[in-house]
Amino acid sequence: MDSVIVVGGGLGGVRAVEALRSKGYEGELTLVSAERHRPYDRPPLSKAVLAGDRDDTTVDADWDRLRARLLLGERATALRLAPGGGGTVATTAGDLAFDGLVIATGARPITLPGDGPQHVLRTIEDARALRARLTGGARVVIVGAGWIGAEVATAAAKKGCAVTVVEAADAPLANAIGSGIGALTAPWYAEAGVELRTGVKVAAIEHGGLALADGGRIEADEVVVGVGVRPELGWLDGSGLLLERGIVTDASFRTGVESDTPGEPGEPGAYRPDVVAVGDCASWWSARYGRRLLVEHWDTALNAPEVAAATLLGQEAAYDAAPYFWSEQFGRMVQYAGHHPVAERHVLRGDPASGKWAVCWLTGERLEAILTVNSPRDLMQARRLITAGTPVDPAVIADPEVPVRQAARS
Ligand code: FAD
Repeated sequence: MDSVIVVGGGLGGVRAVEALRSKGYEGELTLVSAERHRPYDRPPLSKAVLAGDRDDTTVDADWDRLRARLLLGERATALRLAPGGGGTVATTAGDLAFDGLVIATGARPITLPGDGPQHVLRTIEDARALRARLTGGARVVIVGAGWIGAEVATAAAKKGCAVTVVEAADAPLANAIGSGIGALTAPWYAEAGVELRTGVKVAAIEHGGLALADGGRIEADEVVVGVGVRPELGWLDGSGLLLERGIVTDASFRTGVESDTPGEPGEPGAYRPDVVAVGDCASWWSARYGRRLLVEHWDTALNAPEVAAATLLGQEAAYDAAPYFWSEQFGRMVQYAGHHPVAERHVLRGDPASGKWAVCWLTGERLEAILTVNSPRDLMQARRLITAGTPVDPAVIADPEVPVRQAARS
């Protein structure tokens, strides 16, 4: 293999470049990215950048040592796969032939109907533009009480804006962790002086506010939409890669190709070892959970490229991490590890009113996932137990006076 292209210059892209070089790949390496910037971190955008504490989140990479050709501000527009391996990426900078391809095109925010202005938060430009509008007294309406919505509400309230968050579900974070547990975070909004309106569906973004599905209207100076993202897949239409919610891959991030013989719908005909996909755009097979996961979190974009690069270089490697995520909202550190949808039940660890608590999801004595609030030590210890699959005593793990690690069955 002597010509590798990485499409997408987010964290997944830069980590793929670094991993390829650190694993000894000496050939040509080109990074094509639609953004004009060198890869930068997105988590601070909704935190320190909005707050005005940081303006630059560029990933610290040694580009001279990496010897990668950077095509910044250029977009991949199509992929043509050669039957025997390799192919061509059509880009706004011309056609680029490759032997190996890493797809790390991430995701883009979903926007809502209507011709009024709406902010989304994905790029550094988005963050700077929104920051400039978060001035004292501005009426800011945030659509979506998910992770991003809560973080934007935190920053806007701190700047003295009059903040309303509207959420279609009956609780914050309902899609992410279920409404029962999400509801435990609802008091945080009121404490921060943010009005939270749940069960409210938005019909359209209009000039000066938004129209609600029930015929109502909310006036706003600024509307921020944080209702989720969709993987960037448009440029892969017609490529033959199997696309579902994301690019379908196996546990080694080899991409699935559409089958020309009828089989199970959504199952690949084969996997291409010369084309790998990572980060927010990849729907990868998790042996741990026996299903495909599409994980839109920083930790996966950080670590998955190691495996993808090894795969591309013909080494045996598989990714089997339990997902990890954090969010900083209303002065609290919220962390999550594992995958709770597979769990049978959950137990509370500590009192949510205490400001320091956790939820543990269990199947029998297996700890499937944990959500912690202001309890990084619990998170760290639980993450180890989840990763190792160590059985736990459910009564002990529910006791906040006992360290999580002591819940492990010996
Ligand atoms: P991206 O970062 O989306 O990078 C993809 C790159 O590819 C982009 O530069 C894009 O422009 C480019 N691209 C797209 N299409 C093309 C094309 N056709 N041709 C060329 N280039 C293309 N995660 C956490 O775990 N904790 C957090 O607290 C957290 N906070 C976040 C806050 C914000 C505001 C955002 C937006 C995300 C946050 N995340 C957080 C999620 C995390 O940042 C993402 O999971 C991570 O950025 C994914 O990296 P990626 O490289 O897969 O994709």
